[in-house]
Amino acid sequence: MTFVQDTARSQYSFLQGGGEMGELTRAFNWEETSLGPPSEWPQSLCTALGIILHSAFPMFLLWGEDFICFYNDAYRPSLGINGKHPAVGKKGREVWKEIWDFSGRLWENVMNTGEQCWFEDQLVPIYRNGQLEDVYWTFSYSPVYGDSGQVDGVFVTCTETTEKVRNVNALVESERRFQNLIREAPLGIVVLSGREMIVQVANKAYGALINRDYQDVLGKPVFDLVPETERTFRGIIEQVMRTGNTTYYEAFPYYILVADEQRNGYLDLVYQPYREDDGEISGVMILCQDVTEQVTSRMQLQRSEQRIRSLIENAPFPIGVYTGREMTISLANQAIIDIWGKGPDVTGKRYCEVLPELATQTVFEQLDEVYTRGTPFNAVNQHLKLMKNGELRSYYFNYTFTPLYDSGGQVYGVMNTAADVTEQVLALKKVERSEAELLETKQRLETELLAGQQLQQQKDDFIGIASHELKTPLATLKGSMQLLSRRVRDIEGLEKVENLIRLSNNSINKLSHLLEELLNDTKISEGQLQLKKSSFKVSEIIDDCRRMVDIIGSHQLDPLGDLETTVFADKQRIEQALINLVNNAMKYAPQSKSIQIQVEHTGSETTISVQDQGPGIPAEKLPHLFKRYYRVDTGGIQFSGLGLGLFIVSEIIQRHQGRLGVESTIDQGSRFWFTIPAGDGTG
Ligand code: ADP
Repeated sequence: MTFVQDTARSQYSFLQGGGEMGELTRAFNWEETSLGPPSEWPQSLCTALGIILHSAFPMFLLWGEDFICFYNDAYRPSLGINGKHPAVGKKGREVWKEIWDFSGRLWENVMNTGEQCWFEDQLVPIYRNGQLEDVYWTFSYSPVYGDSGQVDGVFVTCTETTEKVRNVNALVESERRFQNLIREAPLGIVVLSGREMIVQVANKAYGALINRDYQDVLGKPVFDLVPETERTFRGIIEQVMRTGNTTYYEAFPYYILVADEQRNGYLDLVYQPYREDDGEISGVMILCQDVTEQVTSRMQLQRSEQRIRSLIENAPFPIGVYTGREMTISLANQAIIDIWGKGPDVTGKRYCEVLPELATQTVFEQLDEVYTRGTPFNAVNQHLKLMKNGELRSYYFNYTFTPLYDSGGQVYGVMNTAADVTEQVLALKKVERSEAELLETKQRLETELLAGQQLQQQKDDFIGIASHELKTPLATLKGSMQLLSRRVRDIEGLEKVENLIRLSNNSINKLSHLLEELLNDTKISEGQLQLKKSSFKVSEIIDDCRRMVDIIGSHQLDPLGDLETTVFADKQRIEQALINLVNNAMKYAPQSKSIQIQVEHTGSETTISVQDQGPGIPAEKLPHLFKRYYRVDTGGIQFSGLGLGLFIVSEIIQRHQGRLGVESTIDQGSRFWFTIPAGDGTG
């Protein structure tokens, strides 16, 4: 490009002034263009150029078929720092290559048709500052008529609005974001205006709260939408409108109707007056947060806490709850208050403050360990001393310390259950003492029993030896007496001696009987009473017995019943048993002349009984009669005997698997009986 200083050209009035662009336009070598030197330019161009160069408004002119470019200083900045400028004198198609498809076409259209066009904030990216930039323009393209009346140029007035468009876009974007924010906010937002309380703004969360699509509620009076809430909320809104005071509510109960069903909930609410620029209150903005879940669960928690509290308070056994490591008593039922004996005013105090006497009794350490380690502690029959009415008293307790965990798994306190077992422990100790005493007594008795048994054994041994040793001399004595009796019988005048011999014989018989009993007893106690069973008729032993009674002569034996019954038994022993009973009848019933022997045979057993009409035996003595050495005190009258006769009878009958018994009536007599089981000796 060449610039020629043409003083002549500077003379043109339309080229005067015009700042930098005036300068550049004047200096340009127009001869090389299709326009030729300015002196040849048509008037219309000169006029238009004069207007452009002297205008403070950005203007551009494209002239002629080459769309030769002219522009003024005001337009200059739109071309950027480097790039297109200076474009004066250049062909439009070259300068505006990048927008020719858009602007060039429009320019051609203006040239061809003379129709102007106007654009506002139109994006026309141009190459400037070394790059293609998005540039917004508000511009008009209008025809410039040449001297011939044809359209020879396109007059461009334009303002770059990039900055404005960006600002507007930013504003729109921010508004959009703001709207989004409101729309998507988890908090219900609604703005009501005027006395009708028309919904101006509402977001999704608000729509959900009133069970409507949030877009459908816009422009409608809010209480037409949810008339059921009017009674509760209209007054509040009106008051905020009237006073202009922001108002807050927490956990405010409300309900709406959904398909005629009442849906209850709780809201945290903020009512904020909505003011116009002049400060006038035109509406109310309401922020509402649905806190139904929180409130319900809090209420449930409170209810369950209340239930637990009343459960603990009414529990029949002592319970206390201590919180924090310092063990603040947060709950203590009457039972534990009674145990502590420090009065009812314990809640809120520290455990160690209420029970300082436990400081030296390891309880505080136990509690602290449960709290810090989170493991429960149990104590059984624990001895503790508690201060009651100024006196340190002993108690025994079973108690537990159980850690209490919060929802985060942290120990927040300790629950204490206890049972006062003082009475039981003391009773147990008493029982233990008694048991020890009992054991001691038992051992002493056992020792005494052993000594008694040893004594008995010694006695038995002595009796056994003595009776055995006495047997031979007694038999010799008996034989000698019989011999003597026979000799004396034949000698005259020895009646007195004969009498003495008879008395001696009686004594010898008694002595033999006693000796017999002693020998039998020894046999029994040594387990040597062997049975030699055989079949015999009961009458045989009764006959022997009668002979004995007849010899003695004091009584009469009267046998009755099935005397010919045969039994299978040890004849000698059964006869001995019968003789013992008959002997007793004669001894203890001396007045009773008749002694009846009754034999009864039933098929399964044979019963033999001996009945006298003697003095009888007191009922309370009867159970003991068959015991070894047992004798009934007969009240003064002395009867010889060892208390072995009935014992021997019972031993003999037992060995025969028989039964024996006695019935007796005072002053009427006694009946002793025994049975021998039936048997023929084959079975
Ligand atoms: P003993 O005759 O050697 O004392 P027993 O064992 O034969 O011992 O008798 C025990 C006691 O039973 C006798 O002491 C006596 O008091 C009482 N007794 C036995 N038979 C009769 C009876 N027929 N009538 C009254 N008492 C009897």
